[in-house]
Amino acid sequence: MKNLWSDNDASALVKLYAGQGVNQDLALRVYSTRLLGGDLRLVLHGGGNTSVKTTATDLLGDGVDVLCVKGSGWDMGDIEPPGMPAVRLDPIRRLAGLGRLSDEEMVNQCRINLLDASSPNPSVETLLHAFLPHKFVDHTHADAVLALVDHENGGDLCAELYGPRMVLVPYIMPGFDLARKAHEVFQDHPDSEGMILLKHGIFTYGTTAKMAYDRMIEMVSLAEDRIAQAATVSFASARLPKSIADAGQVAPVLRGLIADRSGEGGPKRMVLNFRASPEISVYVDGKDVARYGRAGPVTPDHVIRTKPRPLIVPAPDSADMEGFARDASASVVAYADDYRAYFERNNATQAAPKTALDAMPRVILVPGLGLFGAGNSAKAASVAADLAETTVGVITAAERLGPFESITEADIFDIEYWSLEQAKLGKASEKLLAGHIAAVTGGASGIVLATARAFRAQGAEVAVMDRDLSAASTAAEAIGGLAIECDVTDVLSVARGFSALAESYGGVDIVVSNAGAAWQGRIGDVAEEILRASFELNFYGHQRVAQAAVAIMRAQETGGALLFNTSKQAVNPGADFGPYGLPKAATLFLMRQYALDHGRDGIRSNAVNADRIRSGLLDDDMIAQRAEARGLSEADYMAGNLLGREVTADDVAQAFVELALAESTTGAVITVDGGNIAAALR
Ligand code: ZN
Repeated sequence: MKNLWSDNDASALVKLYAGQGVNQDLALRVYSTRLLGGDLRLVLHGGGNTSVKTTATDLLGDGVDVLCVKGSGWDMGDIEPPGMPAVRLDPIRRLAGLGRLSDEEMVNQCRINLLDASSPNPSVETLLHAFLPHKFVDHTHADAVLALVDHENGGDLCAELYGPRMVLVPYIMPGFDLARKAHEVFQDHPDSEGMILLKHGIFTYGTTAKMAYDRMIEMVSLAEDRIAQAATVSFASARLPKSIADAGQVAPVLRGLIADRSGEGGPKRMVLNFRASPEISVYVDGKDVARYGRAGPVTPDHVIRTKPRPLIVPAPDSADMEGFARDASASVVAYADDYRAYFERNNATQAAPKTALDAMPRVILVPGLGLFGAGNSAKAASVAADLAETTVGVITAAERLGPFESITEADIFDIEYWSLEQAKLGKASEKLLAGHIAAVTGGASGIVLATARAFRAQGAEVAVMDRDLSAASTAAEAIGGLAIECDVTDVLSVARGFSALAESYGGVDIVVSNAGAAWQGRIGDVAEEILRASFELNFYGHQRVAQAAVAIMRAQETGGALLFNTSKQAVNPGADFGPYGLPKAATLFLMRQYALDHGRDGIRSNAVNADRIRSGLLDDDMIAQRAEARGLSEADYMAGNLLGREVTADDVAQAFVELALAESTTGAVITVDGGNIAAALR
């Protein structure tokens, strides 16, 4: 592992922060914390923390000894000084004298000793940092160190490698007891350069930021070298089907199976994130994957995001997807039974009973294919997948030194059902469409952007699909969604687009079929090609999108919502707009046909009939022309409806969202036109 310390960079940051009133100690602390956090082999998703002991000045001008320690919610890779809250050192150090301290009281003691009451919570490992005498303390969950310590004889391997330079601390879950134990062990080895926390990670310390960092890199490099000396393992592969289904086919099946149907209301959907690599393949294809793959987390805090074990399903034979769905379903049932039994077994030993978490997996291993992370958002799914990929790397490396071994089941349970985590349950109110995946077709128009934004605001993951990838990207970037190239006039392009969506997010629940364009012509004169071109986009485009979405929805077996953007033309034809209105009228009936044929699949089908919206179909030039033709100002033209108000893209977006949420509504049209009796339905 390369040492990235640069005196120039360090002093540049010291200078920069000096101008903002940040002292040199904290500036250097920020500098090396970023170096550590920037390497995913050292720190991943909150798995590490750092501190510095320094002096701050309080409001009265008195100097106070403080510990600046990583605050929760901050990423080490891009941390800033406010991410290192200052805690009064003396009072929290004195806590070492206590016999016991609950996690809640530990958090309370850290908070009441903050210099700034608005700071984030200091790390749960704050007391461990505070009890050590060194000025700079670094802590990571370095992959190479985990590969060394996650063994029955992990302590021996470390003692042999590091000798007296590193102190060994037995596994204890993070909190007061670990801090006290580490302190006790340290006192017997005051000349040590750091600590190895068995089954957990590594601490290094020093009088300067550079010394602590240098030691971290050196110790991790020694672990890397030790692993490199061992023979490589090659997990012997299981027998796999000749032809494996692709991730786009497999994801909707799995996503449907792990939707939690145990609670009230509809199934609780999750988003998936797919990963494949040569290393993942060797791991998931291994015939012993049920042993090493289900042995537990490589470091305890992964458990909160990955569950104690992954789900392992059979290899998906592309020639027998029905068989795969059946076998995978049995695997999910067995997984959930196992998880509930684990909960019951361990909850029975608790002084205060815990609240059971859902029994669904967050990591799925698919032999022949790769792995999926799962979560209630794309972000959570991607974090679970990152941790799973790291797990693959660490266990593969660990097995070179002997069988991988995690912490005990009771210890896993203590982390997963940690009181601090349990306290968060039910507090965060989940958005209505969290875990849902919405696709909006039709590029960068105002309606697409407003609709994508409205679904995102309700917690859905959103993909914008257009034949022009850069137009889709513009809209997707604006809302934090996914851009997918998809030409709705090409059935293969639609298939590829939805397969890409299933691979990226796991499937689809809501489709806003919006792509369209206006053709004009007097119906008695209009050329057949014009009519056909319009039908291709304004009718068949909707059909192709709906058909591809319905195939995925049926594989998921969690229902779905089809939403069509029809038009006033579908109901109330305008002169010379036949080429546009006719396919739109057919699309209105298409919506009804889907409601009729797929209601039994739980798929709802509805439409929005909007009119006179500023968008790609009605641009500023057209508005000016039409207003002029009617002798109206543009504003009066746009507000020429019963309510006398201009209808916006946001109004249309709102109607789509409401239809998506209306669980008992199908075959309906919502009119969004400010009132036009000639276009009114029912
Ligand atoms: Zn840790």
